Amino acid sequence: MVQAGFLGVLLVLLAGAEAPRPVVEVTNFSRTSTYGEVVDFVQAVARGSEVVAVTTLATSAEGRPVPLVILSQERVRTPEERRATGKPAVLVMANIHAGEVEGKEACQMLIRDVALGPLGYLLEHQVVLVVPIFNADGNDKFGANRHDNGPELAGVRHNGQFLDLNRDYTKLESPEVRGLVRLFASWDPVVVVDMHTTNGSYHREPVTYTTGINPNGARALSDYMWGTFFPKVASALEREGWSSVPYGNFADPLEPSTGWENDAVEVRYGSNYVALRNRLAILDENYAYADFKTRVLASYAFVREILHFTNERATELAALVQRVDGETRDGYRGERFVSSWQLEPLMEVTVRSFEFEKKPTTPEERARLPWLGPFRLEPTSTQRDYRLPYLARATPTTTVPLPAGYLLLPGFREAVEVLLAHGVGVERLGEPFSGRVERLAMEAVETARNIVQGHVAVTVKGEWVAAEEQVPAGSLFVDMRQPLARLVPVLLEPSSSDGLASWGFFNRALVRQWSREPGIYPVLRVSSRPAVAMEVLQGVER
Ligand SMILES: [Zn+2]
Repeated sequence: MVQAGFLGVLLVLLAGAEAPRPVVEVTNFSRTSTYGEVVDFVQAVARGSEVVAVTTLATSAEGRPVPLVILSQERVRTPEERRATGKPAVLVMANIHAGEVEGKEACQMLIRDVALGPLGYLLEHQVVLVVPIFNADGNDKFGANRHDNGPELAGVRHNGQFLDLNRDYTKLESPEVRGLVRLFASWDPVVVVDMHTTNGSYHREPVTYTTGINPNGARALSDYMWGTFFPKVASALEREGWSSVPYGNFADPLEPSTGWENDAVEVRYGSNYVALRNRLAILDENYAYADFKTRVLASYAFVREILHFTNERATELAALVQRVDGETRDGYRGERFVSSWQLEPLMEVTVRSFEFEKKPTTPEERARLPWLGPFRLEPTSTQRDYRLPYLARATPTTTVPLPAGYLLLPGFREAVEVLLAHGVGVERLGEPFSGRVERLAMEAVETARNIVQGHVAVTVKGEWVAAEEQVPAGSLFVDMRQPLARLVPVLLEPSSSDGLASWGFFNRALVRQWSREPGIYPVLRVSSRPAVAMEVLQGVER
């Protein structure tokens, strides 16, 4: 350890006045950086650069400021200054799962190479935002937490509240994701890249990728990603010597020929959430069995090629997301909300993999990887490519027509706070409203056996039925004529697996007090805007 430290200092000294080097370069890809080292590094780059500004995205649950690095020719510091440049923003974030560390290292190298190195041209048509260490609290809990092919020590998956931040995008319980959603609303990045490590099925590509696949997202965005964005970026990456493949796992872990599947469809995942905000989402999952250096360099090249593409097409991308915003505001309420789905082929993919041998699993393996059955496939040294259907098209199996808007009865302050935190437009009824609505005729309220993300999931069963209702003053109205309309049914429909009801926000009303009978579902649906005075809600009193 003494030798490694001495070597690090020596390398820094030899570098002299040259650009700073992150820990991963100084240690020859043997160690990942601590929170303090990341902060010191970006500050060092900022001191020597005309294009870097560093601000704070959020303060973590344990009190660490989460750095937001802003790269722009104009050295903008605020969303207003970004807007004045006329250039769209693109966001790259890493370390949401703080054991998955190569993105954090690649981000530091990228910040340096854009600010002080050869990649300055990437700022010609865009403002680049980088959050290199999103889960700052998890990062420094170093240990043998991962079984990746290096580094030896890495942080943990959860944040300081024991939450998986990549399951917090609908309920917004963490300061980190709340800060990120504020950034989405204020800086409005047209593209969001989220960097992870995957330890699923064995294959040879170091980089895998996907976009939002929730069926309630705008099809125009996913078609653009699969039809234009990913093919261009993947072929540029291939020319750089790095192979890539859409993110997935063998659908049947014991039979590779069955298909290549991505089953992470719910909106609690960041890539699906970003897509439902009508922005272009990229989930980067790097291959855990590739060595650490390969993962750092390949994911660096992937993000560089993404930024090359977005810089060249900045105007086109900004126009695309604006068009989808308008279509969502004007037309989404004419569609149907999808509450359940099945995976069908999106396209064919070639997965560069291996011949496999079937081996019995050990109790230790099953304890570490709970999804393993009694057998697993072990790769041989013989390479084999598989041409497979990519099972990543979530095709609706249960849908419900959408209303013109939703009413939320008074008394659910926490739910209103979450709607406002997402940036959803909410209005308060200044007087009572009486008229025709849809209310949920509840048949059953069921709770899950297990705790997930600190919650006991609630399943509400019932049907929307027409009714004449007296709706009191102080109730809230959520109009579906808004660009974020795709998020509204996800949060308010009873059948949504990521709804506020499902996460327990409506428990007080769902079961009648002093009994076990179903109570009321505190959300109503209307086919037109209530004709009463309403005021736009800015916040809720505590
Ligand atoms: Zn991850």
